[in-house]
Amino acid sequence: MKSIIYADNAATTKLDIEAFEEMKPFLTEEYGNPSQPYSFAKSQKNALKKSREIIARSINAEPEQIFFTSGGTESDNWVIKEFGVPTDEKRIITSSIEHHAIINACECMRASNRATVTFLPVDSKGLVLTKTLEEALKYDRQSNSYPASTLVSIMMANNEIGTVQDIKELCRISHNQEALFHTDAVQVVGHLPIDVKELGIDFLSASSHKFNGPRGIGFLYIKNGNLSILHNGGMQEKGLRAGTENVAAIVGMARALENNCKRIKENAEHISSLERKLLNSLSDLSFVRNGSNNCLPGNISLSFKGFEGELILHRMDLMGICISTGSACDSVNTQTSHVLKSIGLEEEYAIGTIRISLGKDNTEQDVDEIAYALHRILNS
Ligand code: PLP
Repeated sequence: MKSIIYADNAATTKLDIEAFEEMKPFLTEEYGNPSQPYSFAKSQKNALKKSREIIARSINAEPEQIFFTSGGTESDNWVIKEFGVPTDEKRIITSSIEHHAIINACECMRASNRATVTFLPVDSKGLVLTKTLEEALKYDRQSNSYPASTLVSIMMANNEIGTVQDIKELCRISHNQEALFHTDAVQVVGHLPIDVKELGIDFLSASSHKFNGPRGIGFLYIKNGNLSILHNGGMQEKGLRAGTENVAAIVGMARALENNCKRIKENAEHISSLERKLLNSLSDLSFVRNGSNNCLPGNISLSFKGFEGELILHRMDLMGICISTGSACDSVNTQTSHVLKSIGLEEEYAIGTIRISLGKDNTEQDVDEIAYALHRILNS
């Protein structure tokens, strides 16, 4: 296979080799069902217990607050569709720049009359202003029909532009109005330190393939219940998410997360220094950098007026470099990204937007080659 430069780490990441090695026995010899009482199933049972402990420790949670899911999309859908008391009238307040796993789940709740939904605007940097959340919560308090269950769901960091939100403050405001608080932390877990106790949040979604774990596995942090059953069936995940566990993937996820968390500061510093180097090398080009002052390390959204992001992506691809135009989940959709629209980016800039997302495995040479390729494309 020809060598590539992979700069699309917000879409997915390379599997940690140690995680892969730890997964192998559970895909071959150690195939017992962890729900069985015989001794052949003991190592699977122990592996699940240990993985849950590792994952809990990585976000300062308790093991019994970690529920395995198939990834970020499932974790998000579970919270949006099943929060609060099932018979209560429900209200969801979210932002206009969430991932489609949240936006479409909210639209589904609205379309089936199971909740009213408010999409909060963001400022030009992609930040949810605390005032707008306060107003949205207060507005309902003043009306006569205040729903019994309210959920606020705001992503910790945006996948397209990297903006990191003030989750602690947004959660405090929500709790003041007795609303539950969820954060989609898919882009953050394993990349920036997270302490769920300090943040005070009720739910947190995470996805293994974003932190060098295998795909199709993730988890949901649930603080105190307040969530109904996702899958009926057996007693796996305390009967809330039934179905035989994917032990190999869970073990791989835990190992990858533990490895990333051990080097979380060094990785972030390495990626930030590559980001600075890249931006320096591009300083003679004309572009707008999207996002806030506090962005996820390595998530670089650039808009070039008079160019098409799509075209830049394909030219980079021909040079063996993987980048993105928006989020990977949006790559079949040629419409302007909802995130870029929400931050008020002019259409001519939005069309010319690319996302370079650097990861811990990227090198200075990768960055030089990305800068060289961009100069060739944009100056031609
Ligand atoms: N939420 C965010 C912020 C994401 O970036 C993604 C994936 O791109 C998801 C949710 C969906 O996660 P998964 O691919 O594990 O379903």
